[in-house]
Amino acid sequence: METKSHQPLQIFFFPYMGQGYTVPLINISKLFASHGVRTTIITTTLNAPLFSKPIQSSGFDIELLVIKFPCIEVGLPEGIERPNLATTLEMKEKFFKATTLLQPQIDKILDQHRPDCLVADTFFAWATDVAAKFSIPRLIFHGTSFFPMCASLNLLLYQPHKKVSSDSESFVIPNLPDKIKMTRNQLPVFFNQNVETEFTKLVKASIESEKKSYGVIVNSFYELESNYADHYRNVFGRKAWHIGPVSLFNKAAVDEENGCFHWLNFKKPSSVIYICFGSMTNFSDSQLLEIAVGLEASGQEFIWVVKKEKNEKEEWLPKGFEQRMEGKGVIIRGWAPQVAILEHEAIGGFVTHCGWNSILEAVSAGVPMITWPVSAEQFYNEKLVTQILGIGVVVGAQKWSTFEENSVKREAIVQSEAIEKALTRIMVGGEAEKIRSKANALGEMATRAVQVGGSSFSDLNALIEDLRSLRA
Ligand code: UDP
Repeated sequence: METKSHQPLQIFFFPYMGQGYTVPLINISKLFASHGVRTTIITTTLNAPLFSKPIQSSGFDIELLVIKFPCIEVGLPEGIERPNLATTLEMKEKFFKATTLLQPQIDKILDQHRPDCLVADTFFAWATDVAAKFSIPRLIFHGTSFFPMCASLNLLLYQPHKKVSSDSESFVIPNLPDKIKMTRNQLPVFFNQNVETEFTKLVKASIESEKKSYGVIVNSFYELESNYADHYRNVFGRKAWHIGPVSLFNKAAVDEENGCFHWLNFKKPSSVIYICFGSMTNFSDSQLLEIAVGLEASGQEFIWVVKKEKNEKEEWLPKGFEQRMEGKGVIIRGWAPQVAILEHEAIGGFVTHCGWNSILEAVSAGVPMITWPVSAEQFYNEKLVTQILGIGVVVGAQKWSTFEENSVKREAIVQSEAIEKALTRIMVGGEAEKIRSKANALGEMATRAVQVGGSSFSDLNALIEDLRSLRA
């Protein structure tokens, strides 16, 4: 009879809900599948379609298991299965509560299937104990990189933000390999909140469960942030495997039908700016207007992704903008094929909200960035890009906000002059050339990292071997 040791390794992935989590997770599942691992993704009814199409076209046998999100149980309307669909604070709290109620369903799945490992998002703090019940390791996938993990752990440990007298006074994050300054304004709400909420409970639980988990899978590569990869492992004593950039594994096919590529094909190398703020950030009309004015004033050619349908009254655009910009710029409404756009040789700069996937996709494509952090761990990412790697310039965003706060803000946070200045700085002149050559060098390192024998390729193999040895 065949023993389990001869069967392929089986890993179950349980990502957080939302589009930003879907993209890397599919790439990671494919990556493991390409190394002979049987992979299964667990998600909820509403989120399943985000996975099913890319899985079908992946050419790999990736299984999708669908569970029910307990909306009714916590008093949410049916279908609120992604954090960005919970539009009020009250709904958000209920949403977080609901994520803690998913445990029995995962318990049942693990009991039925007995995989070799459960990879679950950091916010499913309870997953470590559920996996332990079945004697399998739980790995964490944060969707972020080593630098923010080190920065936030040191902040929690040393609390330097409590020793300054105002929200705008800067402090140095203690104990890091580089001298990184921040302000309280730039920290996630969790650091500045004294009342306990469902969210703060969740963050605390996830910090505790991280200590007990088997380790962390990181979508990054060693050469990008080696000091921080070492710091995380050696100073905090945690196990971690860097396996990225996972987007490079999934080389984006250029959709020739898409008009923006046709347009890009006629542009000079590194001459076009790409502007996109990820899947969750929505700017107010007044902020979009400032962007439009800044873009026009800079004279740069651009592709600008705006999450808005076309309608009659476009108050977020200056009068006659689209006509004047004909040939100079393209506005994509809705979802853009970002990876393929960034990889196009005509793209010379990227205005980004500093979501980790976006940053790593730009790094992989060798594209310099203008950093405009908004929420989550994006202010840390800005420091990595501008101060440590030197492959971007800041636009000057100063204050962290939740995605909801941000979308209802009436006033623009960043003015058109600052946008114009940053656009010129990243595209024209000696500083721009220096930044571009650094970005290109990192892009080449990223490609080597995922090739046979590269640092990420080797770490992925090491992780697979490790999981195999646990089985024995
Ligand atoms: N993305 C895309 N098209 C869009 C917006 C986003 O393909 O119009 C992808 C982008 O390439 C990245 C992910 O969605 O892989 C966004 O993740 P990120 O971590 O940058 O930001 P988040 O959406 O989580 O804030």
